[in-house]
Amino acid sequence: MRLTRRRLLSLSAAALAAPALAPRRAWTATTLEGGGMRLDTLSDGRLELPPSFIFAGVPEAETAAIFARHGLSADGPLIAPCNVTLLRTGDRTVLFDVGAGPDFQPTAGELPAALDALGVAPEEITDVIFTHGHPDHLWGLLDEFDEPVFPEAKLWMGGVEFDYWTDPATAETIGEARLAFFAGAQRRLDAVADLVERIEDGDAPLPGVTARLTPGHTPGHLVFDLGQALLVGDAVGNGHVAFSQPGLEVGSDQAPAQAAETRAKLVAELAASGQALIGFHLPDGGIGTAVAEGEGYRFAPA
Ligand SMILES: [Zn+2]
Repeated sequence: MRLTRRRLLSLSAAALAAPALAPRRAWTATTLEGGGMRLDTLSDGRLELPPSFIFAGVPEAETAAIFARHGLSADGPLIAPCNVTLLRTGDRTVLFDVGAGPDFQPTAGELPAALDALGVAPEEITDVIFTHGHPDHLWGLLDEFDEPVFPEAKLWMGGVEFDYWTDPATAETIGEARLAFFAGAQRRLDAVADLVERIEDGDAPLPGVTARLTPGHTPGHLVFDLGQALLVGDAVGNGHVAFSQPGLEVGSDQAPAQAAETRAKLVAELAASGQALIGFHLPDGGIGTAVAEGEGYRFAPA
């Protein structure tokens, strides 16, 4: 297994035509190679989230202690980096999730530019495999004209997850704070429903990629075992409290108690096995290991 990080310079058509005017945007790709696979994590940008959303339900004194311990600002937004993983193996070029697209937050939706910087055209993507249906993972599927961003890709999503986000009854149960998540997911998934292959717990959508149902963050959230790494999506959703107190119930999960149980199990397993993990919202490119520390764990970027 070999891991590298490097800076990429975007050379878009506009930059070539008017180099003095166009900003030369630098991108970082973190690359993991081994076992006949090459994995790159690419930044889709970042989310800026109100602490009240993430820590809904956590007593104020405990939240304050968490903020102090992890050097987070209680006033400002919490910054969540977004890492989309590109897997290249054999003749497949696979994305795990597609980022937020143009309609979610102005600080996200940068995946197409990051792929361009890496020299991968949208038409080269053969498969898109979703961890779950939240906006920052799904909404990049369609562009601002509702055209597919990855026109040749076969789409894979957990069957439980697909049913949840396409069932009109979900609007009644998801709650006010996430109603827009539902409307956005339903519209996009309805548009591509015929192209979606369903994945169930234990399925291998592609050779070397095994799905595992990890409910709680969303009802049908999947993680994927890639051998050299476990791609955890949002089942381990941040680089701080998700490791130091994986059993803490937090508001960023749709079913906090179930998600905490799922997360505690995953992090303990990862720390025991030493298998690398790739997290969508983890810092420094999102690839690293879980290391036991104190009564919990910490994320050690690779
Ligand atoms: Zn999520």
